[in-house]
This record gives sequence, C-alpha cells and structure tokens, in this order.
Amino acid sequence: MGGRMLRVGGYTPFSTGEFPGLLSAVVFVQGCPWRCGYCHNPHLQPRDSGAIAWPEILARLAHRAGMLDAVVFCGGEPTIDPALGDAIEQVRALGFKVGLETACIYPDRLRQVLPLLDWVGFDVKTVFDDYPSVTGVSGSGQPVRASVAAIVASGVDYECRTTVHPRLLQPAVLLELAQTLAAMGVEHYVLQEFRATGCDSATLRAGARAGYPGPDLLAQIAPLFRRFSVRRPGVGAR
Ligand code: SF4
Repeated sequence: MGGRMLRVGGYTPFSTGEFPGLLSAVVFVQGCPWRCGYCHNPHLQPRDSGAIAWPEILARLAHRAGMLDAVVFCGGEPTIDPALGDAIEQVRALGFKVGLETACIYPDRLRQVLPLLDWVGFDVKTVFDDYPSVTGVSGSGQPVRASVAAIVASGVDYECRTTVHPRLLQPAVLLELAQTLAAMGVEHYVLQEFRATGCDSATLRAGARAGYPGPDLLAQIAPLFRRFSVRRPGVGAR
C-alpha cells in the first residue's frame, strides 16, 4: 500500500444506483474543500474527520468478489486523497469495475486515475466564471474546466450532471452552461432538480421550485447533446 491509505468516511455495501446498470459497493472518501449550499454530505467535508480503516473495507470487498460488479468512489471529493490511485488499483486487482463520482476539483489527480476507470459521474455546477457563487470558494471554476476537458479526451464512459436550482442557476446561465459543455465535447448530460430533503440551507429550500427548468428551456438544451435527461426528485432520482 506504499504507506498511503484512503481516508474513508462511509461505505455502502450494495447499491443499484451509482454505477449505471451494475451492482456496486460505494466508498465515500472523506474531505471536500468546497461548501456548496445544497451539499447533502456536509459531514464528509472536513478532511480530518473520523475514518473507516481502508484495509477493513478492502477485506469486505474481497469477500464480495463475484457478488458485486463494481466499486464506486465518491465523497466528499475522492480526488482530494493522494491514496485514491492505489485504492483503485487494489479494487481492480479484486476483479471489480471501478467508477468515480467527482466534482472535478483536482484535475491533476483525476488525469492520473482516468486510465484506471470504467465510468465517471462528474458534476459541473455552473458556468466556470461563476463557480464561487455555488461553492463559496474563489477560483473554483478553473480546475473544473481542465477536468472536463480531461474526461472528454480520455474516452472513459461518463455522465455529466448539473444540479439546478432557480436561485443558483438562472435560465440564461443554465443555457450558457449547456452550450459551453456541448462546445467542449460533452455528449451525455443530465440535469438534476434540486432536492430539498437533506439540504441544510433554509434559503435554498425556500427558493426551490418544482418543475424548474421548464419545457421551453429544456427544448433548447436537449438538442445540444447526444444523450440528455432530467432527473426529478422521486422520479428515478439518485
Ligand atoms: S463539491 Fe460536492 S461534496 Fe463538496 S461541498 Fe459541494 S456538493 Fe458537497
């Protein structure tokens, strides 16, 4: 293990919803430098919080080889962890496919692990110049631009997603974002309607609007992508 061990904040032994079409275990990596108002996992934001021992999880995965198809690393932000590449290689050695869910925060580490991945689910939160309005962190959009370019160039299967809330993404900005992603070569795009359940922000909960974005805006966005869908809470949402 080279002395580096993944810092894990949570573990789900069986999931049908994380890696499309496959039964997977989900490993939640501890730590995220951003502070999005709609974060559903704020307990995973501190990097130094309590962790589950990685060798223990690896042993549990070894027992499930043959019963599970894949392991998905998510967070927090999994690319924050210098041990991510080692952990992925260990999981692959057990025969699992590997998925990664990322907010695209660390493009250099993402580039290192992309050749080891079978699938990537990645968030793009808004147009790159406006990222601090969502994440609370200045300059946070630039690494995302680099990460998106790396994923598209890698040829790894992926899903690009944006969580939509009318206060965070006005219609004109959402359309600009979709056009930007299409111009970068993104072909598979999903809009996820904001989920009030589990969100700590009273402001965002109060400002939520079911059915946003509406049909006119969706009709402009859909043709930009080869595959496009909208995920509404309670309607196949995850
Ligand atoms: S990037 Fe993801 S994990 Fe980090 S604060 Fe934002 S929603 Fe939460």
